[in-house]
Amino acid sequence: MLSFIFISICLIVASLGISLLSKIQRLKEAGDKIKTLNLSLEEMDEQAKLIMRTDMELNKAQEELDKKISGLDTLQKLSQEINTTLEEKQIFKKIDNKYLEELGFERSLAFLWKSLEREFRPYLRLGYNDEEAAKIETALNANKDYFLDLIQNGISASSEFMPEGFLAKDKIRRMFLVHSFIICPVLTQEGDRGFIFVGTQNTEASITKGDQEFISILANQISQTLDNARLFEKIWKSQQELEIKVEERTRQLTQALEEVKTISKRKSDFISSVSHELRTPLTSIKGYAAILLTGKLGTMPDEIKNRLEKINRHSDELVHMVNDLLDISRIESGKVDMKIESLDLKTVIEKVADLLSEQLKTKNISFGSNIVDSCQKIMADRGQIERVFINLVGNALKFTPQNGKININANCANKIIQIDVVDSGFGIPQEAQEHIFEEFYRVDNTINQQVKGTGLGLTLVKHIVEAHQGKIWVKSKLGEGSTFSFTLKAGE
Ligand code: ADP
Repeated sequence: MLSFIFISICLIVASLGISLLSKIQRLKEAGDKIKTLNLSLEEMDEQAKLIMRTDMELNKAQEELDKKISGLDTLQKLSQEINTTLEEKQIFKKIDNKYLEELGFERSLAFLWKSLEREFRPYLRLGYNDEEAAKIETALNANKDYFLDLIQNGISASSEFMPEGFLAKDKIRRMFLVHSFIICPVLTQEGDRGFIFVGTQNTEASITKGDQEFISILANQISQTLDNARLFEKIWKSQQELEIKVEERTRQLTQALEEVKTISKRKSDFISSVSHELRTPLTSIKGYAAILLTGKLGTMPDEIKNRLEKINRHSDELVHMVNDLLDISRIESGKVDMKIESLDLKTVIEKVADLLSEQLKTKNISFGSNIVDSCQKIMADRGQIERVFINLVGNALKFTPQNGKININANCANKIIQIDVVDSGFGIPQEAQEHIFEEFYRVDNTINQQVKGTGLGLTLVKHIVEAHQGKIWVKSKLGEGSTFSFTLKAGE
């Protein structure tokens, strides 16, 4: 029985031992697991910290990006505003508090260097009162050389980056009454020098590279617009000067034209009245000579008769000259009424040829005309245009030797007829051609000494042609002949 109890106890103890061992084993395993879990927890913690850090950095980058986008937007709007201005002061007025705040600043100043006065002058003031601004201007001009150097080198300065040789950061802070700031030079091709300053009193704010870039872009924009303004000013000024000059010249020319008109009118009036005055005594002289020549008042010796005939002839010439003069002055002053009608050119020429036929025959000069079919009609005053032909063909006859040729040709284009009176005469020297239409002008040569004339025929012809809105000119070669050409409107 005892041994049974003993065995039972032993079995119980053994089973308890086994169970204990297995529990110890499980506890050990649990301990290992806890260790592993602890390690994982630590790793997770590290990762969570990393994620948080990355998130913060991402947020910061996002903020920077947002700031840049809004800054660029502000800059673009500001550039557009500035670009529409061409007046120095107005350019700076476009930069206002709203734009400045959008860029993250509440104070701004701009100064331009005035080389004559040798000082900086303010062009923009935002966020400062009068007293502060005046103090800054004084301090700035006291340190002008530093600022001029900075501008000349085209370098920007900021509370984050100060170039070597420039004033100390804290000095600028005290001078401009800000915590953070940016200074960017304004340097134009036209020679303007200055700078733009932006700043903030906010001690939390810090200047980024992006901020500095923005203000640099703004300063460049201002420089370019200042250049445009200067160029515009120059162009505007020269245009004004030109306009004044043109006005002055026009005034002088109008005055000169008026004077010429007055003189010309006076001359016409004078010629006209003198001609009138001459006509009456001339008619009497001619009349008396004619009566005496008839012999009604008694016979007279041949010598006296000859002289009287001369008086009669010369009187005729004088009457002719006076009439030409009167006609010229009348046409010049527009007193002659032109009865413009469509005329048959051939008929006009035939009439003139008929009138001059005796002289043509005497000198055995061949006369012909060549009129293009489509140019048969001219718009002209019959009486006046006959005078033109009589004068031109008459001259051709005078200045063409025996057995010569005279031809009239007519061509037309664009409803204008050109008529050429061509002769095979002595010709006109080159230097005389430009004077040929002037009053009383006669070529000074031996032929003219033998041929009578007044030098008024061509002047009259020119006036008549111009009164028809035509033109007249001459081409001639000495010894070969002359061609007088004139234009008229074509008739229907
Ligand atoms: P006039 O014939 O009375 O001298 P005109 O005014 O008709 O005056 O002519 C001016 C001058 O032009 C003439 O004196 C003459 O020297 C020159 N002239 C005109 N027509 C011709 C011509 N067909 N050939 C050569 N010379 C001419």
